[in-house]
Amino acid sequence: MRVGTDKTPMTGTPVDVRIMTRAELALHGIRLDAPVKRPDGAGPSDDGHVLVDGANAALPTNPASPYAVRDGRVWLGEEDTGLAISPVRRPKFYDMTTVDGVRYEQLARLHGADVLATTVVQTCIRYGESERCRFCTIEESLRSGATVAAKTPAQLAEVAEAAVRLDGVRQMVMTTGTTAGPDRGARNLVRAVRAVLAAVPGLPIQVQCEPPGELRWIRELREAGATAIGIHVESLDEEVRRRWMPGKSTVALAEYEAAWDEAVRVFGHNRVSTYLLVGLGEDPDELIAGARSLIERGVYPFVVPFRPMRGTLAARDGIGAPSAELLRYVTKAVAERLRAAGMSGADQKAGCAACGACSVLRTAGG
Ligand code: SF4
Repeated sequence: MRVGTDKTPMTGTPVDVRIMTRAELALHGIRLDAPVKRPDGAGPSDDGHVLVDGANAALPTNPASPYAVRDGRVWLGEEDTGLAISPVRRPKFYDMTTVDGVRYEQLARLHGADVLATTVVQTCIRYGESERCRFCTIEESLRSGATVAAKTPAQLAEVAEAAVRLDGVRQMVMTTGTTAGPDRGARNLVRAVRAVLAAVPGLPIQVQCEPPGELRWIRELREAGATAIGIHVESLDEEVRRRWMPGKSTVALAEYEAAWDEAVRVFGHNRVSTYLLVGLGEDPDELIAGARSLIERGVYPFVVPFRPMRGTLAARDGIGAPSAELLRYVTKAVAERLRAAGMSGADQKAGCAACGACSVLRTAGG
């Protein structure tokens, strides 16, 4: 559906067309050899990192995509889409090694042009085949040798200092696989945040974890100096949660709600976010209604398309990505509500919503 009346001031391209084109790029990818890639890891993304109209974008690099790059612009066949594109250059810190022989690239990755991302603990208690989230590959990058199982606070501090100094990194994302203790991984994040901020004072850091079994960990994370927190539910639909996240769905939605509310209290309005995945089979209008309830809580719903990444159980089972039209429909509605509430991803200061690369929300004005 390529219709729309609002025009962007810079290009004159109708906004709906831009959202749709960006949605198609997120799903079908682009014919491009991006120097910065994220082959697998935690969560739902698998991409090359580029800038689209100056904004971070994580797009699948796909030789079969109908979208190509010519003269710094995105083309669909012979049609110039009006979107400017440039690859993110390979950062200098990737070529450095710690004194104990670990490549910095194995410890943290550049996401977009200016985000340093790490998975502090690369294993997850839920990674057994019957428990694992169907879209996740957190332990695949471990098996391939692309990363190491646990990053020490000192290692992360060393990498962050270099990435800020050499490559202009402006914010950091720390996620973790779920650990067995009642903190569910938050304890390791606290130590990592403290060490990084001692090396790079003032760096905005977002931490990501399951709702800690003990809510005091949310305050500990804030007191360690984290700027924002992501507590990612992926879906608010109980049936979808059980089907896609058999292990994680054993944490009741009520626990998520309590953790979000505590996080908003401690971190502040629009410093808390959650992922909502489009394409898990949920009714789109219910998904949008759920996003609205999150916005009312002060939680930013980071709407992201499900994509069947290599190595996931979903890809093995032949489950496909959602349509671009579905992604456009949900993204546009959620972005409208975010704007009405005065919440922008950039105001999170750190984290996925501030980066925006894995979502189409930024293009839609969220
Ligand atoms: S949105 Fe999050 S996962 Fe995606 S590139 Fe940005 S920081 Fe990385």
